[in-house]
Amino acid sequence: MSGAIKIGPVENHRGREEGAIVYPVYSRRSKGLSVGINLFPDRKVCSFDCPYCEVFPFAQDIVFSVEVMERALKAAIANAHAENIPVRDICFSGNGEPTMSPHFATALEAALRIRDEHAPDATLVLITNGTGLLNDRTFDLLRCFAAGPAALAIWLKLDAGTPDWYAAMDRSAVPYDALTARIRQFVTLAPVTIQTMLCAIDGKEAPPEEAAAWEYLVTELAAAGKIRSIQLYGKARPAPEDPLAAALPASYLEHRAASLRTALDEANSNTVPVEVYP
Ligand code: SF4
Repeated sequence: MSGAIKIGPVENHRGREEGAIVYPVYSRRSKGLSVGINLFPDRKVCSFDCPYCEVFPFAQDIVFSVEVMERALKAAIANAHAENIPVRDICFSGNGEPTMSPHFATALEAALRIRDEHAPDATLVLITNGTGLLNDRTFDLLRCFAAGPAALAIWLKLDAGTPDWYAAMDRSAVPYDALTARIRQFVTLAPVTIQTMLCAIDGKEAPPEEAAAWEYLVTELAAAGKIRSIQLYGKARPAPEDPLAAALPASYLEHRAASLRTALDEANSNTVPVEVYP
């Protein structure tokens, strides 16, 4: 891809206001052009502190504004159309947890309007660590957007099946049991895609009891709720805390995926695809 479409990591775009807020990238999971929306152009804001997080420390004197976002989003879609490149999705992601932004609801509504008008075939996506589900208003907002006509695709992080591994992988003050209780509730009401990072922490992969507990939890969610797919992904990019978190061999991810498929099969949930992104 070339010309007016700028494809590259978000770091390349932070110098400009619009580029720091809206950034077209090629997404391996979307298999095409994804227009990212970053609600935190000034600094990272997140309720997790994952050791594998790819956001390097930064501070910019850029203030998020829905007006700038709308302008930049329309321009990115127009550029893609001019190049005959289909926009696969419009994705809330960026430097932190989108639901923590005070602009989140307004920005989501604006993105939906623009998607419907300018790129109706694009999927509206939210990448989230799920902690927003502990807030009733956010829970209801996401349920309405995901289960209603907006068909918001929620890609929900679920890295662990035990509090111990959650503490190592996500290092959050949000209690594991409270978070998973809300996730269990949410998936009965609206569809989600589960995303799990599989990497080594301090040179060690997840212990067998963690792998078993995670598999049990995901299988339970798939049996009880509306799980679209389960994505296992590996550490593919540098992180500021390297080498605390390290990539595991693709064979490890494939082994975990095969084991999960068997468990889903036994639970009669084998229609849920399990995808691997080493
Ligand atoms: S949830 Fe995402 S943004 Fe937050 S620390 Fe983890 S990887 Fe980074």
